[in-house]
Amino acid sequence: ETISIGVDVGGTKIATGVLRGDELLTRHVQPTPETGWEAVLDAIAAQVLALQGQHPEARLVGVGVPGPLNSDRTRVKFAPNIYGFTDVPMVDGLRDRLGQRIVLENDAKAAALAEAHLGAARGAESSIYVTVSTGIGAGIVLNGRIWRGRHGIAGELGHITVMPGGPVSGAGLDGALEAIASGTAIARDASYALNRDVSTAEAFELAQQGHPAARRVVGQAMKHIGVALADLQKVIDPEVFVIGGGVASVGDYFFLGVQKAADEYAQGFAPVTIRRAQLGTDAGVIGAALAARHG
Ligand code: BGC
Repeated sequence: ETISIGVDVGGTKIATGVLRGDELLTRHVQPTPETGWEAVLDAIAAQVLALQGQHPEARLVGVGVPGPLNSDRTRVKFAPNIYGFTDVPMVDGLRDRLGQRIVLENDAKAAALAEAHLGAARGAESSIYVTVSTGIGAGIVLNGRIWRGRHGIAGELGHITVMPGGPVSGAGLDGALEAIASGTAIARDASYALNRDVSTAEAFELAQQGHPAARRVVGQAMKHIGVALADLQKVIDPEVFVIGGGVASVGDYFFLGVQKAADEYAQGFAPVTIRRAQLGTDAGVIGAALAARHG
């Protein structure tokens, strides 16, 4: 049975695990260092070596990162939500530290692969996985394979412009979807509206209790995400969408709101089928481990 290691680098934490066949054996989580990319690479390398100490047969390593990659998948162009993460030579940097070549993948593309092979999109010919968390990203899977596009950026859904002149994203674009509908944006807008620190989870709780300002803030986010799915239905027409990420984990309220907007804006074209991610917070680790096998 194939055994491989997956690493999921996030804005706040780095998760690692060993995947044997379809089964995730161990899982480890540590905070993402905030002192620049070299420290992030050091942390990843230390964790991979620790896992290989326990599972010496696990030689294939995949690393998922929250930003677009260059087209030969050796560098991260930038990670909008990690401090100091610009043009990072990830493959070389980790080869120096580990003495082995890792496979690099975008975090949303990795999770898309995991959900398509082992999760909510299993059996679908085409699917689009969308993560709504610190940022917003997507992975487009056609016939079991990730669609990358000419420059490797296909799926950078968080940076499509939905409100020119609106709030600015981590990539510096005004009116980008993730500047309006990510977890970060919801917490920012809810805090402003309520004039105190409000987390994304609390914003959803208040909205569910009927708090008008919270309803407005999360309602706007859900609407923009639903509209984006309706747009993608018109452009790509996938069989199914899968939504995961921290914000989606709030559950029913979120999915109903997104589905309503998607239905409204895709009306007369095609139904928008939305499923919840099945692999939860493990999708990134599992997907990175699968990416390592696919090379
Ligand atoms: C990045 C994507 C990433 C997404 C989720 C966005 O800001 O540009 O590459 O997939 O966040 O982490």
